[in-house]
Amino acid sequence: MLQRARSNPVGRALALALVVLLTSLGAQAAERRFLRTETLPRQLRAACPLCPALLPNAALQEPPQEPPQEPASRIPTAQEIDSVLRELSAVTGFRVRRQLPFELITRDQVNKYLKEQIRQSVKPDEIRAEEVTLKKFGFAPADFDLKQTTIDLLTEQAAAFYDFHRKKLFISDWATVNMRDAALIHELAHALADQNFPIQKYLSKTNNDSEASMAREAVVEGQASWLMLEVTARRSGRSLADPETARRLMATDSDSSDSEYPVFSKAPLYLRRTLLFPYDDGERFQQAIFLHDGKPAFARVFRQAPASTAQIMHPDRYFSGEMPTSPDLPKTLKHAKPFVEGQLGELETRILLEQYAGADLAESLGPRLKGSDYRIDEAKASHRMTLLYLSDWSDEDAATRYFDAYQKVLRAKWKQIEVTAQDDAHFSGKSEDGYFTLVRDGVRILSQEGFIDPPVTEPRP
Ligand SMILES: [Zn+2]
Repeated sequence: MLQRARSNPVGRALALALVVLLTSLGAQAAERRFLRTETLPRQLRAACPLCPALLPNAALQEPPQEPPQEPASRIPTAQEIDSVLRELSAVTGFRVRRQLPFELITRDQVNKYLKEQIRQSVKPDEIRAEEVTLKKFGFAPADFDLKQTTIDLLTEQAAAFYDFHRKKLFISDWATVNMRDAALIHELAHALADQNFPIQKYLSKTNNDSEASMAREAVVEGQASWLMLEVTARRSGRSLADPETARRLMATDSDSSDSEYPVFSKAPLYLRRTLLFPYDDGERFQQAIFLHDGKPAFARVFRQAPASTAQIMHPDRYFSGEMPTSPDLPKTLKHAKPFVEGQLGELETRILLEQYAGADLAESLGPRLKGSDYRIDEAKASHRMTLLYLSDWSDEDAATRYFDAYQKVLRAKWKQIEVTAQDDAHFSGKSEDGYFTLVRDGVRILSQEGFIDPPVTEPRP
């Protein structure tokens, strides 16, 4: 059966059921940010905006905070919840429609909860399709176990979550008081948004288009993360509307090497980047829409969802409605059938570039991607998997640079590679995965990989 690719179906399925507040990167990045902003209340220092769909497994260890803090042994009172909901409503204009139950949960319970959610909502075929895709592109090693890594990551990271089905908030019993206070704002922001724009419906209405899914997750998590900063800032008479406050609060450290989070820090770059994207890039996106629209920005991002990771990273493309292109791939060969297909948008293309050609090139070249399509076909008899990947660039210079960078990807992701032909528009040969051909034609680049015979198709005009 042909699967539509989704970036991490395990994490995404969880995102449809609950939004989790993750601690590790988010918390640490937030911590560093707040250390630079002495005037802000200390509550903000601990927990932040990581509630993504999937995160690493720091869960099995001691809570990661520095000097041990008092555990949040106390469930927030109804009065406390009501007061935070009012603060959130004042910022967003969203109506508070009902109160919410809040419950403490242990790490063991978090782990069981996650496994049950995955069992109910993710099909093994979807997990396999995603694993094959990640491995074919070189995002993950051959022995990578997507489901287990995702469960481990989330168990490590989940400090709090909001369950859409049960309309209930959970907070882990190991969360510190500071984390709890920040988590309360973040999770109540989800709950309030859900009372005005049902989030589950919003997240699931993407026809399994992974670019649209990631963009919508960035709206959900980015808004909750942004609101956590804004509500706390307002308590001390500040606002993200002030450029200086925004500059200090929203600065992110792109890389924190957190040895306290072994699962997270060992996870493939792809998982780490896609996990953080909804929080970090989503928060900057919400800020851009807020500065542009004021209060209506909070409803706008739900009514008019962004369609791609590029729109999240470049809000001007959201305002102008610029969509990724979808170049046509060569047809599936006679003896094969399509196994999985999808698009590699700006986020994933940047991750691939960062992993194999460096962060600087990822940063400069990523925005010049117009769009790309890929498909993995499976040979009917041998079950051999072939990858077809066609990308479309803004100009020939960008295409030439990607053509060079993608050769580095090919040389590095395989153990053995024998190059048989190479010029400024062709690169072909054989690896342990089979024959490959990389061709640049104007602004388009077609890679065909894993064939039993040398592939011949050129990109279409
Ligand atoms: Zn969240």
